[in-house]
Amino acid sequence: MVPAEGSPDDTVVPRPAQTPPPAGAGAASPGQIDAWLAQGRLQLAQQAAVALASAQRAAQAARAIDYQHGVLGALLLSARARARVTTDPAASQDELQCALALAEALGDEQAQAEACQLMGNLHAARGAHAPALDAYQRDLVLRRRIGDRRGEAGALNNIGLVHRRMAQYPEALAYLLMSLELAEGRGDLRAQAYAFTNIGAVLADMDDTTPALQYLLRGLETVRGTDDRVLESSVLCALGRLLKKTGHLQEAQARLQEALQLAQRDGRLAETGEALLGLALVQMQQGALPRAERLLLEALGLARRAGDRLAQAEVLLALGRARGQQGEDAAAIELLERALALATPLQADQLAGRVHRLLSELHERMGRFEPALRAFQAFHACQDRISGLDTQRRIRSLLSRADLERAHRDAELHRQRGDALATALDAARESEREKQALLAQLARQSDLLRQLAREDGLTGLANRRWLDAQWAQECERARRYGHPVAVAMVDIDHFKSVNDRFSHRVGDEVLRRVALMLRDSVRRGDIVGRYGGEEFVIVWVETPLAQAAAACEKLRERVAALPLHDLHPDLRGTTVSVGLAGVDRQPQDDALMAAADAQLYRAKAEGRNRVCW
Ligand code: GH3
Ligand code: MG
Ligand code: MG
Repeated sequence: MVPAEGSPDDTVVPRPAQTPPPAGAGAASPGQIDAWLAQGRLQLAQQAAVALASAQRAAQAARAIDYQHGVLGALLLSARARARVTTDPAASQDELQCALALAEALGDEQAQAEACQLMGNLHAARGAHAPALDAYQRDLVLRRRIGDRRGEAGALNNIGLVHRRMAQYPEALAYLLMSLELAEGRGDLRAQAYAFTNIGAVLADMDDTTPALQYLLRGLETVRGTDDRVLESSVLCALGRLLKKTGHLQEAQARLQEALQLAQRDGRLAETGEALLGLALVQMQQGALPRAERLLLEALGLARRAGDRLAQAEVLLALGRARGQQGEDAAAIELLERALALATPLQADQLAGRVHRLLSELHERMGRFEPALRAFQAFHACQDRISGLDTQRRIRSLLSRADLERAHRDAELHRQRGDALATALDAARESEREKQALLAQLARQSDLLRQLAREDGLTGLANRRWLDAQWAQECERARRYGHPVAVAMVDIDHFKSVNDRFSHRVGDEVLRRVALMLRDSVRRGDIVGRYGGEEFVIVWVETPLAQAAAACEKLRERVAALPLHDLHPDLRGTTVSVGLAGVDRQPQDDALMAAADAQLYRAKAEGRNRVCW
């Protein structure tokens, strides 16, 4: 379920390869030790066990000559390698604590940040959210202080992931969007891919499937521009799970198969298990229960080996569901209890809630109303912690009424007691329905939050990120249906002098008015966004080039006629230059945008206040 557990910081800095350290060799020089460590970092991805051995020998050699920076580097390398090959959190934690103390003593803030990040990963993997957040926040502060933008994007991403695991979705989104912005600003594709994927996963958790799909597709497209196949496998997996959720079983299966292949090829336990789980869920939906169970058992083994208890719990839930579907309620309940035992200490409310709800259904089916009600109540508690709503009080009052009734009954009235509890359960479900209405309201509020994330603050137009997403989507649609599409880049002429002569505030107002004018000059389906500074983009949907050119011309005239003297008596008006490009079919997103940009350049060169295409 959780993709991209790693961080964008896993890449290594390539240095010339050196021979690995010989075991028990004599005294080494600092230069040799550095070279071994560099070599070890290169081996991390493919041969983590070898890297671990190198780190340990380098540590020994560095200690022997009292080379503290070497010891520090070795500790960090060792912790990173350990995270990949073993599940010994105690050893890693000790190592990281040493590394942190040493880095502080040496005043090496980069190493401190790295140690904090690794510490955060360690806590996060164990589901220790509070210390994980603590470590990542420290990491973030350090990265900002030393101006390490890539590390900063990684820390923001990791903080977002912890919030996601705690089902704190608005916080998760806020951090992931910050990470995305930073990554985009730096043109860092890998970090962008992480952000897109994780944002998509959060939206999928929130059942906001349409934008979730958009972000995941964007993640997939972006990750394919990098060499990170592990992340690609995670994206495909998340995509497969989402497609399954929306009933696109065939496509889901194809994506999950791809994910499985990539994960297996790289020998990644966690990702392989995740893909198997996804495939099993597809099989279950198709009613192929025995096949689903075989896949689930395999996934369970992998999750155990990877030491991922959350993943184990998720597989157990699926196994329980499969058993329940075959009418083996008692076996199902046992599996679900095991899932709970794993999920509860991890505070994984999303998952625990799903387990409790299924338990409640199973108990009810078996006529065991008391445990059914208890499980339903627990489901509620999880939902409440997720949504922050206090409907538990109502359940409690329902319960105490049930208790009261019970006190008035004697043992003979066993059946009636069952009825009373069943009624209480019904009443509880009724209150759950009311709560769903409240949740829908919350969802609308989070829509607002997302809207803010899509909008440019000054003009209210689509911001660059949203525009890019819409543009890619529109091109995809145009390619699929054979529509024409055109794109215009609109740039205000000599805008700098508006700021210089009349103040930045006046400049802002001019931007707003031009933006409004642009928005009011296009048809409903067309897309207008602020590309940056005083530059706008218009996507003319399903529009042939000549028609878009005429529309641009009209728009240029309307801007030139825009009255602005109320802002300043000397401000006569403003003009825009427009570069336009379009094709009748099969648009290529980047090429078309670049062509529009080139035309804008021409419009400026030929004297401004004109449309070139
Ligand atoms: P050209 O005709 O070649 O486009 O000239 P120009 O002056 O419009 O272009 P240039 O790129 O030199 O300057 C753009 C200016 O836009 C510089 C910057 O101060 C201003 N600007 C960018 N964003 C904002 C904003 O949000 N508000 C205001 N007031 N000004 C902005
Ligand atoms: Mg300009
Ligand atoms: Mg400009």
